[in-house]
Amino acid sequence: MSEFDLIRRYFTRATPGAVLGVGDDAALLQPTAGKVLAVSTDMLVSGTHFFPDADPYLLGHKTLAVNLSDLAAMGASPRWATLAISLPAADEVWLERFSAGFFELAQQHGVDLVGGDTTRGPLNLCVTIFGEVPPQQALRRSGAQPGDDIWVSGTLGDAALALAHLQGRIALSEADFAACAQRLHQPQPRIELGLALRGVANSAIDVSDGLLADLGHIMECSNVGAEIDFDALPVSQVLRSYSQQKLALAGGDDYELCFTAPAARASEVRAIAERLGLPLTRIGKIVAGRACIVQDANGNPLNIESEGYDHFR
Ligand code: ADP
Ligand code: MG
Repeated sequence: MSEFDLIRRYFTRATPGAVLGVGDDAALLQPTAGKVLAVSTDMLVSGTHFFPDADPYLLGHKTLAVNLSDLAAMGASPRWATLAISLPAADEVWLERFSAGFFELAQQHGVDLVGGDTTRGPLNLCVTIFGEVPPQQALRRSGAQPGDDIWVSGTLGDAALALAHLQGRIALSEADFAACAQRLHQPQPRIELGLALRGVANSAIDVSDGLLADLGHIMECSNVGAEIDFDALPVSQVLRSYSQQKLALAGGDDYELCFTAPAARASEVRAIAERLGLPLTRIGKIVAGRACIVQDANGNPLNIESEGYDHFR
């Protein structure tokens, strides 16, 4: 199969939201008047971000999901994506499954794949995603204010628990592993939440490297500190039953949103949770200074050694 057959067969679909999609030297895109583009790139490398034998369908999903998650964290609505892919071989079964996973999620979010690049090499997947947001409503990391509540969506730590199981660091029952593996392999980007938080949240980030690490970026960009109530962290029954609540702080791959909002907006945040059917939990507050304190229900501070995953540490 030639490179062009491969692109035509697996990566060329209708692009109703583009002026011109795959097949020319460049795609042509018409942004909506009055909006700014939100652009983000995320790369998944075999052996670093996934096991080389990972299910290609789930990989197709995750490759796009992690990029959509970045748009969610900006409060942007997704429109287009490009895909740069390096493959050891043109394995048709693999490509069929990978593109099925990718396009299923793309369709759910109205994303058109408008271009990319395809080369032979070690398995490497890189998506650039393009979304739109009214300029004044983008959810930045830099907007947190002392007194803001800190919120997170969904539950934290399950993906890290599944990874720990796969790496032989913990042994989960089959059913428990299945529940957590879903979180690891098929993260659900919180796009609707990001959109709902426009004009409500002061800052937001998606939790990909662990809550402490990612909240740390908000603190740094906003020049503020944080107090976290450890016992308020939303965790699954499974995480609790293995006493691994600490993974909610320092695990990774959650792809939930962490955001801050003025205390006066708390009832609006609760209404959003209700409307979306997505739990939103207040886990602490933004304070002056630069320290991050995690305390239990009795107000005793926890010792936090690990601050999340850093590729170069
Ligand atoms: P060029 O040589 O001009 O860079 P390519 O041969 O790399 O063009 O790509 C041909 C067309 O196919 C371009 O429109 C490009 O954007 C698109 N394309 C290449 N690889 C992919 C891919 N993996 N997914 C989607 N579109 C792709
Ligand atoms: Mg090219």
